[in-house]
Amino acid sequence: MGVLYVEAEMAILDEFQDFCVLECSGCKQKKRTKDRKDFECPKCNRKTSLVPRCSFQIDLIDDTATTTASISAELGEKLLSMTAEDIFDITCTKRQTLSLNHVHELLSKKVFEVQLRKSSWASSNTTHATLSILSYMEKEHTPQSTTDRTSKKIKPLEICEVQVMETTTAAGSSNAPPKFEPPTPMKKV
Ligand SMILES: [Zn+2]
Repeated sequence: MGVLYVEAEMAILDEFQDFCVLECSGCKQKKRTKDRKDFECPKCNRKTSLVPRCSFQIDLIDDTATTTASISAELGEKLLSMTAEDIFDITCTKRQTLSLNHVHELLSKKVFEVQLRKSSWASSNTTHATLSILSYMEKEHTPQSTTDRTSKKIKPLEICEVQVMETTTAAGSSNAPPKFEPPTPMKKV
């Protein structure tokens, strides 16, 4: 058990998962069924109904590895911008795949600060660990990426400047043109 923080890109690599589970409305225990009918819950010891809960696998991608974590409930609904009821209706009742284009777009090229809970459980001498996302937020652009973007923008300007300099030298003028003149020649009348 433990809470950890990672910085990673997020992506839903498995688009064909169900994105939701059914759980007992009383004890919230997950049921391995797609059949949404009232059932006799052994834990609640009474007849209860099943309610869908958003739950799916999301992949966290950093420089070194891809880690699969689970995201559920409100956090998952927020990410998909859908309610658990809608998700259940599409993936389990209609047996269609969710359209995730808007989610892919939302997540692409962004780095998130993700808070994860690591839980481990042992079965037949093997320890399994599962990661669940507790929260995530988009990371502020780092100075590194800002520099990258600026240098990309500046590159054509530099080439332009060099060309202007050459022309000026050929014309015999000793005054180097100001840096920002080349892209806006209209203002210089
Ligand atoms: Zn129950």
